[in-house]
Amino acid sequence: MTPYRGRFAPTPSGALHFGSLIAALASFLDARRAGGQWLLRIEDIDPPRCPPEAADTILRQLEAFGLHWDGSIRCQSERNEAYAAALECLKSQGLAYPCSCSRKQWRDFPTYPGWCRQGVREPDKPSAWRLRSDKGLRPVTWQDRLFGTQCFDPVELGDVVLKRKDGLWAYQLAVVVDDADQGITDVVRGFDLLDNTPWQRQLQHALGLPEPRYLHLPLIMNRDGQKLSKQNLAPALPVMERAVRPLLHRALAALDQAPPDSLATAPAAEQLDWAIAHWEVDRIRPEATRQAAAADMAATDPS
Ligand code: GLU
Repeated sequence: MTPYRGRFAPTPSGALHFGSLIAALASFLDARRAGGQWLLRIEDIDPPRCPPEAADTILRQLEAFGLHWDGSIRCQSERNEAYAAALECLKSQGLAYPCSCSRKQWRDFPTYPGWCRQGVREPDKPSAWRLRSDKGLRPVTWQDRLFGTQCFDPVELGDVVLKRKDGLWAYQLAVVVDDADQGITDVVRGFDLLDNTPWQRQLQHALGLPEPRYLHLPLIMNRDGQKLSKQNLAPALPVMERAVRPLLHRALAALDQAPPDSLATAPAAEQLDWAIAHWEVDRIRPEATRQAAAADMAATDPS
């Protein structure tokens, strides 16, 4: 069997919060429990969304939680050539096409209806590149490790954007190219990305890349039922070791790992040792979302 290689792949649009901690922690524990590697990839393909200091803050936060990654850090901003080669590969198979349509033009359709498949409609306008999903149509299925069998209809998925009109690479293409290039065997991430996975599987198939296993995790919501994010002011994770202890314990509890109460004030390294030894995916209740109290998501010990 291929040795386990997992990853955490944050977009550095801001500091990590309790929701990102869940993805980082679960992917770390899953990798370490399997005796595998855990890689860190900074998904900075969209510079206007990524303040320059955010990536640094993320590294300091991960270190404070004892989530030490293996090898060097991959930055997507340095991977232009690899993404361009993947797009060329799709073009050469007739699987990618330029598209000048604006969202406004197809707003009455559930997905983009593929108007530019037969030739770009407005060649003088900037074009995006899309995947041609109508060739060799077949349902996209996989077995999620927590949510079980997933099956998506390619007609409903539509032709996903590979490169945006502004010239930036789309997440779907970049993530697939890098997961393959880094030999990722297991993707562990939030439930909000489960419905992106079928596009990624389509791309893996079109590019002849291996398909990793997937584990999507329940999303942590705030009291108002919103996903935690910088926009709705989720508190940033601390970088002081003492302050991370209770948060790490609450994150283990949110992943249904039932950490003993006595561990709540233990150093991060000790909590992680316990959690690696006891990590069980089967304990996680397969809920798309779960609510956390505000107090669960913020550091209470500022020292
Ligand atoms: N960069 C994505 C995010 O921060 C995660 C990508 C992934 O795990 O596939 O939401």
